[in-house]
This record gives sequence, structure tokens and C-alpha cells, in this order.
Amino acid sequence: MSVWRRNRITIPDHLIDALHRHEQACAPYEAAGLLATKGDVVTDFYPVTNQNGSATSYSIDGGDVLTCADRAEAFGERLGGVVHSHPSSSTAPSETDLVTAAASDWIYLITSRGELAAYRIIKGRAVRLQVLTIPAE
Ligand SMILES: [Zn+2]
Repeated sequence: MSVWRRNRITIPDHLIDALHRHEQACAPYEAAGLLATKGDVVTDFYPVTNQNGSATSYSIDGGDVLTCADRAEAFGERLGGVVHSHPSSSTAPSETDLVTAAASDWIYLITSRGELAAYRIIKGRAVRLQVLTIPAE
């Protein structure tokens, strides 16, 4: 069970750097990844393969989801979000992103050319979240 009291999440700087590196490595295709969370903190990032191999859409293999969920739980975390990139549009969710969002308690991160935005998507509507960062030690 996760209870959201605030529309904000916290992401360590080193994970944001990792997201952007993955984004760059996958360009011009959309990059995809999964997020481990603990409460409203993103605790890990698992880069995965975009099964679509597409510049305008992404999908993640169900086996990758299970593997990453097991890994998160082994560390006392949970699989709590997904990230993908928009190589040629803004960090706003696309219509497809809105209609395909499944788990309403997940964090949806979208990166675009070095920018990052976070959302919850509930019943096809996106709520933008404030992103707090934790500087690298
Ligand atoms: Zn998208």
C-alpha cells in the first residue's frame, strides 16, 4: 500500500544522471526503464530495452518487470514507477502515455533532451509532481 500525502517525489542526483545517460544511449529511440521506490523516494533505476525500438513509443517486456520487481523487493523497496524518453517532443505525457498508464500509484518519469518531469497518471489524467533532488555525496 502506498499513501501519497504530497504531490512530490525525491530523486538522488546520481539517478537523474543515469536516466539522462540511458536516454542518450538509446537515442534516437525512446529509452525505457523501471524505478524502485520507497515511499515518495526513487531509490533505484533499472534501464531496460524498449521492445518497440521506436522513436515515438515504448513497451517493456513483462519478464523485465518481474525481474526488476524481485530485485527491488530484495532491497526492501518496491517497483514503483517507469521512465521513458521523448527524443523529439517535450516531457508532457502523450495521449498514448495517458491511456496506457496502468498502475495509478506509480510514478511516471519522462525525460526529454536533458529535462525531466514526473507525473502520477490517474484514470487518464496526469498530475505533475514536484521533483526534489538529493545531491551526490
Ligand atoms: Zn511518452
